Amino acid sequence: MTSASGRNFLHTPGPTNIPERVLRAMVQPAVDFTDPVFLKMTQSCFADLKKVFRTESDVICYASNGHGAWEAALVNTLSAGDHVLVPESGHFTQNWAEMAEAFGVVIDSAPGDWRHAIDPDAVETCLREDKDHKIKAVLTVHTDTATGITSDLPALRRAIDNAKHPALYMVDTVAALGTTEFRMDDWGIDVAVGGSQKGLMQPPGLAFNAVSAKALAACKTANLPRLYWDWERRMEEAYYRWFCGTPPEHLLFALREGLDMVLEEGLDNAFDRHRRLAESVRLAVGVWSRANALSLNAVVPEERSNSVTTILVAEGYDADKLRMISREKFNVSLGSGLGKTRGKAFRIGHMGYLNEPMILGALAGVEASLEASGIPHEKGGVDAAVKYLAAS
Ligand SMILES: *Cc1c(COP(=O)(O)O)cnc(C)c1O
Repeated sequence: MTSASGRNFLHTPGPTNIPERVLRAMVQPAVDFTDPVFLKMTQSCFADLKKVFRTESDVICYASNGHGAWEAALVNTLSAGDHVLVPESGHFTQNWAEMAEAFGVVIDSAPGDWRHAIDPDAVETCLREDKDHKIKAVLTVHTDTATGITSDLPALRRAIDNAKHPALYMVDTVAALGTTEFRMDDWGIDVAVGGSQKGLMQPPGLAFNAVSAKALAACKTANLPRLYWDWERRMEEAYYRWFCGTPPEHLLFALREGLDMVLEEGLDNAFDRHRRLAESVRLAVGVWSRANALSLNAVVPEERSNSVTTILVAEGYDADKLRMISREKFNVSLGSGLGKTRGKAFRIGHMGYLNEPMILGALAGVEASLEASGIPHEKGGVDAAVKYLAAS
């Protein structure tokens, strides 16, 4: 039975902890959305989002979750019958591809698996084979939240360039934005998809498309039906176009406060904090894994995500029971396995508004849950995390 006393530790990989500052920013009356003060605040959010995406291009903001921003990226750039290249890498590339398919887009896949980052060579090979440039876009996911793996985005840009292929480079960075370095312009990314409720510490409900000049040019000829998601309409001067209707005012109050917090900490400091906290989680899992019932899903250490850690549970043990015990008895909410790892994995989210004692508390809760659920694990995972955090 979950204790009503104390806090719940939210370690699902989205939504994430919302800082009190952000919560408080939402506690205010609705305003006249034509009020110049509100319009100015909204524009300042758009301007600061560019800093987060590290782009000079426009960022469009939708009152939607990440799936909405996925759809926006597709319908603004593609036509029915177009091909897109989707490297196999996890649950989220697969789902984005399924959405494209629903619009009559043809999916070409590049081989890969759920335990490794996207292979730039496989992408290059597929693009080289596409002599008539049927492929209009490459759909990639920066950090796949199911696998806990982060792909090398500059290497994928080089793969596209090496193949001398004109396809748009589209990146879903929903789970990495604010936790892991991302440079839209320097890395030649054409469309970046982001969301509010992961690394940016926001309530769920806002999602973003950052859009390069090349992507904007593609929307002139893309013929998939669209109106609500249409980039050009959203970029018109009239403020009632910015959100295609009433702006999500309270989410924007929250966004303003959250962006202030992100910029006060500094993006590079935030990346560093995430790396440190993630490393402490990986060290703990490394110790627990010595009893051969658990293992990190990401095989290559450099590919392990700083946002989320996916832990595989050996045959014969129940990952969902562990999660239930963790939530009900120890007040630590963990992510489940997704797609082909459903029931066979659990995930520790470590993105957003987090610090050392929060991570140590969560790890202690997981260790207690392993004990309570009878999953073999070597003792001392939390000690390893303490030792690392004390020394680094
Ligand atoms: C969470 C997530 C999404 C989907 O976002 P929703 O807000 O749940 O629609 C897409 N891609 C990645 C990588 C995610 O982590």
